Order: sequence, then C-alpha cells, then structure tokens
Amino acid sequence: MISKIIHIRGTVQGVGFRPFVFSTAKKYNITGWVRNSSAGVEILANGTPQEIKVFITEVKTNPPPLAKIDTFVESENYSNGYKDFKILQSQIIPGEFIPISPDVAICSECQKELFDPTNNRYRYPFINCTNCGPRLTIIKGIPYDRPNTTMAEFTLCDRCQAEYDNPLNRRFHAQPVACPDCGPQVWFESLTTGSEKREKGIQRARQFLRDGKIIAIKGLGGFHLACDALNQEAVSKLRHRKKRSDKPFATMVFDMETVKKYCLINNAEETIMGSYEHPIVILPTKKGMHVPKQVAPKMRTLGVMLAYTPLHLLILEPENDYPDLFVMTSGN
Ligand SMILES: [Zn+2]
Ligand SMILES: [Zn+2]
Repeated sequence: MISKIIHIRGTVQGVGFRPFVFSTAKKYNITGWVRNSSAGVEILANGTPQEIKVFITEVKTNPPPLAKIDTFVESENYSNGYKDFKILQSQIIPGEFIPISPDVAICSECQKELFDPTNNRYRYPFINCTNCGPRLTIIKGIPYDRPNTTMAEFTLCDRCQAEYDNPLNRRFHAQPVACPDCGPQVWFESLTTGSEKREKGIQRARQFLRDGKIIAIKGLGGFHLACDALNQEAVSKLRHRKKRSDKPFATMVFDMETVKKYCLINNAEETIMGSYEHPIVILPTKKGMHVPKQVAPKMRTLGVMLAYTPLHLLILEPENDYPDLFVMTSGN
C-alpha cells in the first residue's frame, strides 16, 4: 500500500472535477479524499502501486470535458489507513488564486429534462447539472462551493440534496443545483399587464414577442433586448431606441434546424456554434430568405447564436404562428 498527495491547478472548479475524482477512485479501489482549495484541487490517494498508477493516469488523461489541467504535481505521503474515499470540505489558502470556469450552455441531458412532462424540473428555467449552467456569474468567492455563490440563499429541498449527495447522480456536487420547489423563480413585468410569475410569466413574454413587442430578458451576463427579427416594425423601433444606426444586431434561434433555415453553415461553424459557450457565429444568409434589412443593414450575413440557457429555450420554443428568429441584443 502506498500513499500519494496530488496538487492540481488549472480550470478544475465548477467543472465536475471532484465528482470525477470520486468515481475514478471508487473504480480503482483508491481510498483517501479529494477537496477544492483556493489553489485548485488536492487529492490524497491510498492504494497498491498498480492501482495508484492507473488512477493517476486516468485523472490526468481523461478529466471532465470542461476541465483544463495546467499543472499536476504528485508526491509521496505517509498518511494511510483510510477506509473509504471522501469529498472533504474545501480549504482556503490565503493569497491563492485559481481560474473559474465560464458559464456553460445548457447540456443535452438537461434540455431533454426541461421538455419532459414527467420530470420534476419540467419547464424549470434554472435547470442545470455538473456539466452545465452558470458558474462565473454566480460566484462571489473561491473555492467554488455553494456558500460562495449567489445560490447560497436557496436551501436545497430533500430531493435536490439527495441528488447533490449521490455520487452516481449527474448532479453530484453541482453547486447551482435547484428545482421548482427550492430554487429561484422567474417573473415577467410590464406597465400594461402587471407582473406575472413562473409559467404564466413565460407565456406572457411569448405573447409579447408574438405581438411584435420588445422585451428585456435577464440572462446570465445582463439583459438582452429581444423581438421578432422578421417583424420590420419591431426591429426598427428597437434600432431607434438603442440609437444604433447601422450596426448589425445579433440573433438567436431555438435549434440548429432553424439556423439552417436562414443561413448557410459548414461543419466547422456548426461545431463552434454548438460548443459549450454557444458563441455568436456570423453566417451568410440564404438566398430567398427575406430577413428585414434593419436586422443587419448592408450585410449579406447574420450573426446567429443558439439559445444557451433554459430560460431562452422556453421563450424561443417553436409553436405554430410563433416567430423563430429573434433579435437578441445587449441591453447594457
Ligand atoms: Zn446539464
Ligand atoms: Zn429542489
């Protein structure tokens, strides 16, 4: 039996690193612990030389998709006798700094749950998991743990807590985990129709967009001003209000199918659009697609992004006689 202490630096918090180390340790009979520190992630591993070797190889070469390891330092250690592998409380090291993961676009599994009527997070605008959701915008301090995020005030319900504590669950140690019973809620406000909460608020927002009105959506990094991109009057009004004479507006769509309806896109561009950042990609507009010139004056291209939060998906969800291309411009 040998013992190693491992210090890992890089983008290793908020990316599912501890749950990954935990399950890898279980897989190779490793005992000891893992914890976040304000310098990165620390692991203490006990096992046979062979077990330790495969464990370290796997942690190094097969980390979670969003993790980026900058340095990996292992050293001999003499503390052993651990019976189990545990995730320990984070440790704060004064003066240390680690990079924080950016916000991550909703993953395909959460998107499936969002539109599954049998799921307890059905149509919940703040659904997230270890692989997706807000990170940088909710962090108030490091290490990245729930008490150091803006989610601290939302106490987990029993169901969410059970998911958070279960190593086999895909929300194991997901700091922003929430559900309709215990997490934040949405609402919609207007001077004419007053304030409406939850699903009613989402439906009201959709009604406004359908009617050619401009709405403001609070997303992860601030407000977006949104309207139906095919409604010339709405786009002109928005352009006038933003005093944005002829700079192109960014647009947002529900899915890749809609991108292809309006634009030409190659494989490389498609991969970039679908990456975890869901960036705006500038694409040539298809011939015969009459997008009002006010969206991108004097351009034959369109800046398009895919909906990247559950809230955007709920607002953009396709329906008969509902817009499918939306101007989504920064309201800051
Ligand atoms: Zn997810
Ligand atoms: Zn809950």
